[in-house]
Amino acid sequence: MNELVNFTIDKKECMSTKGKYLVDAAAENGIYIPTLCNITGIQPRGACRLCTVKVNGKLTTACTTPVYNNMEVENESPELQDLRKSIIELMFADGNHYCPYCEKSGDCELQAIAYRYRVTVPRFPYSFPKREIEAGHPLLAKDHNRCILCKRCIKAVKDDDGRSIFAFARRSHKLTISVDTRLSHVMSPEKAAYAAEICPVGAILLKGAAFKKPIGERKYDKKPIGTELEM
Ligand code: SF4
Repeated sequence: MNELVNFTIDKKECMSTKGKYLVDAAAENGIYIPTLCNITGIQPRGACRLCTVKVNGKLTTACTTPVYNNMEVENESPELQDLRKSIIELMFADGNHYCPYCEKSGDCELQAIAYRYRVTVPRFPYSFPKREIEAGHPLLAKDHNRCILCKRCIKAVKDDDGRSIFAFARRSHKLTISVDTRLSHVMSPEKAAYAAEICPVGAILLKGAAFKKPIGERKYDKKPIGTELEM
């Protein structure tokens, strides 16, 4: 039988199953901890760092930290809010995110989280990188301008033999996501749709589906991110 543990988040009493990752345990207790890389059920890597919290006074990522008895978690302090805001600002400054004409606008998690943290002008200079758009795959387009290197596609999108369709290529500031051309040519429409869906931004797009869902009817148009847990 699963062992239950008690802990607090911002002094609120919480309960969950021992070993469950904090980001999921918080959600069970109606508390939102932001993340742009985590997918529940897939081994977390702490790639985006947005879920940074303090556990017993020490900074850690909530997606990689299992809950245990009597842990004290700080989630909403001004220090953590500003840390997260700075990470979001860095993502905007580091890529080319032009929301008004992005197909993912309204469904984009980065955009929704930026609204939640009231990001206006980043404190960092924009780098305006020159990045490619790959449109040579039959079902998908890959826009490197919007990629935040969250690794979701690498971890979650595999072919039927477990081979990764997406992978990291190059290093350092040139780090990018490459798409296996051979596998992308035999990818099923369902898998392509899943890849576009789990990408938190508009970096993986389904060909032929642009703006199918009208603006105003998208996921975060009516309900801001995180509020589905908090209401
Ligand atoms: S393509 Fe999308 S899912 Fe893949 S790393 Fe970039 S932002 Fe993440």
